[in-house]
Amino acid sequence: MKLTTWGQTDIGRLRSSNEDNFSIDRELGLFIVADGMGGHAAGEVASEIAVKTVCESLLPALKQNLLHQDLLSGLKEAINQANQAVTSAAKENSAWQGMGTTLTVLLLQDGQALLGHVGDSRMYRWRTEHLEQLSEDHTLVAEQLRQGRISSGEAGRSGLGHILLQAIGVSEPLDICLQQFPLAAGDLFLLCSDGLTDMLNTADIAQLLRDNPDPEQCCPALIDQALKAGGKDNLTVILIRIDEL
Ligand code: CA
Repeated sequence: MKLTTWGQTDIGRLRSSNEDNFSIDRELGLFIVADGMGGHAAGEVASEIAVKTVCESLLPALKQNLLHQDLLSGLKEAINQANQAVTSAAKENSAWQGMGTTLTVLLLQDGQALLGHVGDSRMYRWRTEHLEQLSEDHTLVAEQLRQGRISSGEAGRSGLGHILLQAIGVSEPLDICLQQFPLAAGDLFLLCSDGLTDMLNTADIAQLLRDNPDPEQCCPALIDQALKAGGKDNLTVILIRIDEL
């Protein structure tokens, strides 16, 4: 498999620290975005622990070339381990009490994509000029929308958009969203924190992907546009283009 990938993070225009973390491992086909929350810099501790724990936990399975079914359960196990690691770190330090993080993990192996996800960071797929959100938002508003209790217009206007129904470090047990689907040459995956998607809608993002086919140019273009739109939160963007299967 041949990939072109790029990732970057930005503190945004209003925050005093960056609580997002991300990881790109092209060799292993492993890509992670985590958006931390909690006072006293605890958010960045939570997102860092979560990213590190997933990488360390998945490494042995990836090196042993496990079958996809095993990898999906390995991915679930890695996310549960991240949950435990963040929870126990919070117990050891009172300043870290209540810290948590979103976690979105994409694993690309032998023509397949595996997604493990908790929270409201997002993964999109850009395929044949169509942008599709593949992760679901674990937020109160998204849940009300899924249940048909509010309209999409009401969801957009709701001030409750950021209430998470579950997060790493604060939910036990986790209801991890796991998906597996085949890759196609030319697929482009976007992993991002909500600092991007709160500032740019799907049409804005699609236009930027259309105008900037190269991930190395497109990542800064997405971040610049979100900063121009207000940059109210930390922003993290990873782009992965499947050049060849
Ligand atoms: Ca955020």
